[in-house]
Amino acid sequence: MNRAFIGLGGNLGPVRDNLERALELLGQHPECRLIARSSWYQSRALVLDDEPQDDYLNAVCELRTELEPLPLLDLLQSIETQLGRQRHKRWGARTVDLDLLLYGQLELQTERLQLPHPGLGQRNFVLQPLLQLAPELRLPNGQSIAQAAATQGWEGLQKLEGDRP
Ligand code: ATP
Ligand code: MG
Ligand code: MG
Repeated sequence: MNRAFIGLGGNLGPVRDNLERALELLGQHPECRLIARSSWYQSRALVLDDEPQDDYLNAVCELRTELEPLPLLDLLQSIETQLGRQRHKRWGARTVDLDLLLYGQLELQTERLQLPHPGLGQRNFVLQPLLQLAPELRLPNGQSIAQAAATQGWEGLQKLEGDRP
């Protein structure tokens, strides 16, 4: 069994419902087991061009899976499509984004799949939920999640109150 972490995010439509449904679909796959999800977090959209975007809802989940990395990416993309994601432009507003953050300690640089996810070390909206789920975790380069999360801080990010755990 491999331990994988998935970053979930969205800022278009009924986001919470979509992300809950994505978790359900992941957990229902015969070769995936949903171990845990973080709290929900709200993050300000990264402004990469001049178009403002609504805030994002984010979470991270932990899976145990028999799927190899590429079939797991296929599954994530098929769930995105099933939940109505349309690919207009990268980093545009979206109903649901499912990114493979980590797959065990695997490092991979291919066109379709990079591991760890290339944004991981710079994005507080994935590092803080990851820290919540797996405080002991280390990145394949040896850096601790705690250290990376502390460096990136909380700017533009808040943990939603009243949520579990
Ligand atoms: P970002 O990857 O910066 O978070 P994004 O999630 O909006 O941006 P997508 O449109 O979801 O980007 O994906 C663009 C491409 O990224 C996908 O076609 C996929 O092949 C590739 N990709 C590379 N590494 C990963 C990864 N670890 N997880 C998910 N997609 C990845
Ligand atoms: Mg993404
Ligand atoms: Mg993505």
